[in-house]
Amino acid sequence: MSSGSNQCLIITAPSGAGKSTLIKALMAKYPTLFQFSISATTRPPRQGEVDGQHYHFLCSEAFKAAQADNSFLEWEEVYSGLFYGTLRSEVSRIQRSGAIPLFDIDVNGGLSLQQKIDPKPLSIFIKPPSKALLEQRLIDRKTESAESLRDRLARYEYEISQETSFDYVIVNDNLDRAAQELFTLIDKHFAR
Ligand code: 5GP
Repeated sequence: MSSGSNQCLIITAPSGAGKSTLIKALMAKYPTLFQFSISATTRPPRQGEVDGQHYHFLCSEAFKAAQADNSFLEWEEVYSGLFYGTLRSEVSRIQRSGAIPLFDIDVNGGLSLQQKIDPKPLSIFIKPPSKALLEQRLIDRKTESAESLRDRLARYEYEISQETSFDYVIVNDNLDRAAQELFTLIDKHFAR
C-alpha cells in the first residue's frame, strides 16, 4: 500500500454508522494533513449547515448543468430525488494545497472513486454494530423524516454487502475505540 503524497482517503458507511463523527475526530487530530472534499448536493441544508463549507447546495438545475459539463468525478442519487457529487475542482484544489483529499461519501460513490483516482485511494468502511443500533442512531439524530429513515434503512443490506470492496472495515461499536483504530490506520498509511 502506497503512502505517497498524492494518495486520497475515502471514508464510507451506511447512513447513521457514525461516519461524520469519526471524520470530525479525524480532522481534529490531523488538522493540516487532510482537507475535506466539499461535495455538491441537491439536498436542502440542515440546521447549522453552511453553503460552501459542509456542501455546495445546488438546485437540481445547477446540479444537472454541472453533470452536463463534466464537473463531477462521480455522482449518485444517494436517496430518492437527492443527488450528491464529488467535484473534480475540489480534488485539484486540495492536492494543490499539499493536503490529502478526504472523501465522506456513500458506498457506491466510494466504489466509483476507487476506480477513478490514481493512485487508488485508501478506503475505509465504517460499520454499525447492528441494523437495530443504526435505526436507533438515526432516530436519535432527529434529522430524518419517516420517509428518509425508511429510505436509509432500505439501503443498509446492500451497503453492508459491499464492505469487502474497501481496504479496511472499522466496526463503530464504541466511538473512542473506533476513533483509535482509525488513527492507527492513518498513522500507518499517511505518516509524514
Ligand atoms: P447526508 O445527507 O447525511 O449529508 O449524506 C448522505 C450520504 O451521502 C452520506 O453517506 C454521504 O457520505 C454521502 N455523500 C456526501 N457527498 C457525496 C458525494 O459527493 N458523492 C456521493 N456518492 N455520496 C456523497
